[in-house]
Amino acid sequence: MKSKSALDDADIQLIEDVIKTQGKNWSDDRLKPIKRKIKDYLKAQDCSCCYCRRSFWGEANFDIDIEHILPKKKFKLYEFHPDNLNIACKRCNMFKKGQRTDFLDNLQLVATQPFRVDNYKFPHPNLETYEDHLKLVSSIDGPVKLTKYVLNQNGWKGPFTREFFELQELEEDSMNKAQGIEEDKPIQLMSDDAANKLRDLIKKTSSEE
Ligand SMILES: [Zn+2]
Repeated sequence: MKSKSALDDADIQLIEDVIKTQGKNWSDDRLKPIKRKIKDYLKAQDCSCCYCRRSFWGEANFDIDIEHILPKKKFKLYEFHPDNLNIACKRCNMFKKGQRTDFLDNLQLVATQPFRVDNYKFPHPNLETYEDHLKLVSSIDGPVKLTKYVLNQNGWKGPFTREFFELQELEEDSMNKAQGIEEDKPIQLMSDDAANKLRDLIKKTSSEE
């Protein structure tokens, strides 16, 4: 029995045509419906960013990027390669990774062995298990929020991944933070005087209308 595929024969034909015409490829307008199918498929597999592992559950589609693990500008050959595609958040994709290639141990090796996992300094999103290297631990209980990245001692890619994507920026421990602030006076949006001045002004303006 033929297994079900997200992309049908016509889609594959179109991708082949686009590759053969050697144009703008990935940004070709004809590919829009196909890219939608790819994104929906990847979301159904795992609805989270392949680098920081934060959930996309309930997020709008435009906040989710189709991620080319080998950047598409530098490795055009792999822009439609299924092993090279996953989904990522804008933070990881655009602001942390971008066109960087320093996550590859040996740039030259890509030409002959593009998907050799030990050439990738972070866990390959399609060919490795992230949690073998590091794990996102997250819990929300009302206002109490905790987010941590815990390194797996059995894997070697955790420290690099954490640094490359600056995952410590995403870590949060609201319990600890609340305790830390107790000594200082909590910060206010503005002084009481300024707030009263604004309130009066708004009241005056609204009654004038
Ligand atoms: Zn991310």
